[in-house]
Amino acid sequence: MDTTHADLDRKRRIARRASLTSVPIWMAMALLQVFTIHFELSNISWRQSAPVFAGVVLLLFLHDLYFRTPLCLKTGLKFSTVGAVSIGIHVVLALTYLIVDRFSYQFALLMAMVMSAGPAYLGLNFGFLPTLSYGFALTGVLSAAYALLPPLEKTLPAPVFFLFVGIVLMGWSVGAIVNGIHRRKKYRVVELLREQHLANEIIRDQKTRLDERTAELTRTHSSLHHMSLMDGLTQVANRRRFDEAMMEEWRRQHRVIQGREPSRQPADLEDLSLILIDVDHFKPYNDRYGHPVGDECLRRVAQAINGAISRASDLVARYGGEEFVVLLPGTPGAGAGRVAERIREAVEALAIPHGASPVSDHVTISLGIAATDQAPGLTPEALIKAADIALYQAKQSGRNRSVVALSSAADGGRP
Ligand code: GH3
Ligand code: MG
Ligand code: MG
Repeated sequence: MDTTHADLDRKRRIARRASLTSVPIWMAMALLQVFTIHFELSNISWRQSAPVFAGVVLLLFLHDLYFRTPLCLKTGLKFSTVGAVSIGIHVVLALTYLIVDRFSYQFALLMAMVMSAGPAYLGLNFGFLPTLSYGFALTGVLSAAYALLPPLEKTLPAPVFFLFVGIVLMGWSVGAIVNGIHRRKKYRVVELLREQHLANEIIRDQKTRLDERTAELTRTHSSLHHMSLMDGLTQVANRRRFDEAMMEEWRRQHRVIQGREPSRQPADLEDLSLILIDVDHFKPYNDRYGHPVGDECLRRVAQAINGAISRASDLVARYGGEEFVVLLPGTPGAGAGRVAERIREAVEALAIPHGASPVSDHVTISLGIAATDQAPGLTPEALIKAADIALYQAKQSGRNRSVVALSSAADGGRP
């Protein structure tokens, strides 16, 4: 619906409301007229009452016009024109009554009705002050008319008339005051609700921002935590991460052994293996090719080790310098031996030339394995020591191989 149509619709609604209020009032007036003339409470004769009926008919016709917008549009009449004509007729009829009837019971009743409609409308829509002004203005006009127009046969004494009108007016004024107070209270409540709504929105907004900040901080924290546990050069876990994981696994393995944690695969879950890896003749490699090439070699070896392990619980870490360590939870020594061989082969398969190695043309590694099933009852430190001894044995027996530590090996050591 475009604006002109919406505007037309709004005007039509207002006009309809005005008609619906005025038409019953005028019809009631006609009835009042019949009643008061019959009981001789009016100065008007049957003949004189004709304008009232004419007015009612005219107003009904106008009312019809309000409703029939097509007719209104066809004749080109504006709603405001129709409204103005209607108000004009009301005023003319009221003045006619005032002049002709001159303050009889009928006029007093009529005034009571006008005063019911006027203050009711003003009080509901504009509050106390306009209603009071309306009351004063009306009283002024009526007083002036009372003083100027000579009384007729049925004219009431002034005190009776004004007492009657005054009581009605007062009743409506009280109504308007009560309504005004009620409206103010209602507006205050609406205002408070609006403020509360605004406050809620601000809180919600700040909460969203806080949530975003928290999420960002959590992300930063976890990425910092991740970084603090990574080896910068080789991109595998660092020594710290390994130490933590080792202790964790050690405690878990202890719980399994003591039967506190029900195990699905008892035989394997009880085991923990460790592989210590050392790049063979790496010092000569560095000396031959330079440190940056040495770094690159370490990176590739680390990735080869990483690629050779399969379980999510396995952990590859840089133990220090050119040494790496692999933690294999739930893996017995025999399994660890197979993993170690896979790792050794993976590094060999890289085929990184090593012109200064007496062992091979390529970079190779030696591996020492220690497993809790091979050497039971060892502390984490002793397990690492056992792996170190096995590594030493691998070096001693020609490098580029893996050696599994035996239980007695833990008691010995590298000389
Ligand atoms: P072995 O076969 O007995 O293990 O002999 P090796 O030369 O590998 O052993 P050694 O412990 O004598 O030398 C380790 C060398 O590893 C020393 C150092 O030059 C090198 N190295 C340690 N850390 C790094 C590193 O981060 N980058 C590079 N490029 N070299 C490193
Ligand atoms: Mg070394
Ligand atoms: Mg070495």
